[in-house]
Amino acid sequence: MKQEQCIFCKIIAGEIPSHTLYEDENYKIILDVGPATKGHALIMPKSHYADFYELPEEAAADVIKLAKKMMIHMTDKLKCDGFNLVQNNGEAAGQTVNHFHMHLIPRYKNDGEILKYIAGEPDREELERIKRTITE
Ligand code: 5GP
Ligand code: ZN
Repeated sequence: MKQEQCIFCKIIAGEIPSHTLYEDENYKIILDVGPATKGHALIMPKSHYADFYELPEEAAADVIKLAKKMMIHMTDKLKCDGFNLVQNNGEAAGQTVNHFHMHLIPRYKNDGEILKYIAGEPDREELERIKRTITE
């Protein structure tokens, strides 16, 4: 299920080196080469799925379980103060590598505004319209 042009498939195949934190038959966790903070890592399935839309439910469950274990382990080892789990889908959402992955980002007091959005101010009618769009 390897995609020839996929950089993460190449890493998984050992064609591009990476700093591997964990590996089993189906998943790999590596350090991000452009880390937001010390220890920023990426969980990925070894099979190629473009994003979370494509990821089978069973793999999604595995990824979350793995993320929880690794987050606890990394928090203990790195002595970080908090943790972000981030997962981007599609260019509009900031995805740059189209092989599903979840970011594990250890956070440290005063490490800056790494993940920040500007809060909107919708009125109640707008929220109600959005709710109806999603639920009806
Ligand atoms: P995305 O923006 O798709 O959610 O995240 C892609 C991530 O992959 C980025 O944080 C980027 O630094 C990382 N990345 C891109 N190329 C490589 C690579 O060759 N090796 C590693 N370890 N990380 C990479
Ligand atoms: Zn791939």
